[in-house]
Amino acid sequence: MTEKKNIAIIGAGLVGSLLSLYLAKRGYKIDLYERRPDMRVSTLDGGRSINLALSDRGWRALRGIGIEEDVRKVAIPMYGRMMHSENGQLTYQPYGKEGQAIYSVSRAGLNMALMNLSEPNPDINYHFNMQVQDVNLRTNEVYLHNHHSDTDEVIQPELIFGADGAFSMVRNALQKTERFNYQQSYLEYGYKELTIPAAEDGGWLLEKNALHIWPRGNYMMIALPNIDGSFTCTLFFPYEGERSFAAIKNDTDLLNFFLEVFPDAVALMPDLAQEYFCNPTGSLVTIKCFPWSYEDKVLLIGDACHAVVPFYGQGMNAGFEDITVLDKMLDSFDGNWEKLFKEFERKRKPDADAIADLAVMNFIEMRDAVADARFLLRKKVESK
Ligand code: FAD
Repeated sequence: MTEKKNIAIIGAGLVGSLLSLYLAKRGYKIDLYERRPDMRVSTLDGGRSINLALSDRGWRALRGIGIEEDVRKVAIPMYGRMMHSENGQLTYQPYGKEGQAIYSVSRAGLNMALMNLSEPNPDINYHFNMQVQDVNLRTNEVYLHNHHSDTDEVIQPELIFGADGAFSMVRNALQKTERFNYQQSYLEYGYKELTIPAAEDGGWLLEKNALHIWPRGNYMMIALPNIDGSFTCTLFFPYEGERSFAAIKNDTDLLNFFLEVFPDAVALMPDLAQEYFCNPTGSLVTIKCFPWSYEDKVLLIGDACHAVVPFYGQGMNAGFEDITVLDKMLDSFDGNWEKLFKEFERKRKPDADAIADLAVMNFIEMRDAVADARFLLRKKVESK
């Protein structure tokens, strides 16, 4: 029942960085260990999406540490989805009532804003280039490789938060404990990021305030606006099959395919071939596990305990909500970390499972929505 003050957060991504601010606000001393270099001085590509949809859950968590207004200044509201048919016809579907929106934000921009906010706090220390290799749950020793000095180091914090994402090494240690449940499932689809650059005058070549979708049956492309006038497009495509990553072998295959199925987009993508063949193909995984904690020593948070596919745009938002919920529980914290962790995982697990299942279902809805779009178009024509 002792207060633990020496906390290590593994992973300084979106969730780890935000969590550090919430814990420091309560007087804890935080050390963050991140395997990558400091993204504010290095442009190493993390291989993750360039922009993200931020919704109410996420805003609530940002509001809690007073950063909401700063992020709003660089967030682009998307009031609805704009469907692009094969012949370039557009159909707009609002997300909600007038003024309601989800927001496109830069992943790196948001992560750096959180780092900048926490860095001046003397109770928060970032340690970059530090990759966790293993955790000894009995002794609380964390084994790290320092990529900067190419040496191995060991730390022994009193409390460990695993915010190290879908392929968490902290979770890996928990997986070796008795009665730990773990499930991972990959979609037979991957994703590829492509770009529609800004117009010559710096404006947006498509409707700025919408999430664009090119639904094509069993695959689709989407595009979210960036603050610099560009759009980041993501092609969700089967790995194998007649129309798939495997089937597109060269520039000609690629161009023919895009001209046939995304003709209005390809006209706006001057770097298509270069990006398509150079950018990595990302995989899409759902990870479920339980429990999320180990005694009074370790708690997993964010993607480390609930990675979801991106079709509901809720992975980061759910990770941020973890923090809001944990923070609220800390209001009535009686010093018993184990009890707190148990209550937290019991409360959050059903919600995390629900969003994981909804996200997979929404892929089918989004990619097949071409049928809906055609239906809406027909209705429009019929009603004239
Ligand atoms: P991560 O962002 O994965 O951060 C983990 C951090 O830990 C990283 O910095 C990593 O370098 C570090 N790390 C990993 N291993 C170690 C180690 N061994 N030692 C030290 N450090 C380590 N979510 C949304 O809410 N809206 C969206 O629109 C959206 N779109 C998405 C689109 C795509 C294509 C993808 C793939 C995901 C999308 N997501 C979206 C999900 C979102 O990216 C994740 O839910 C979110 O990044 C999770 O944050 P996190 O901090 O838990 O994990």
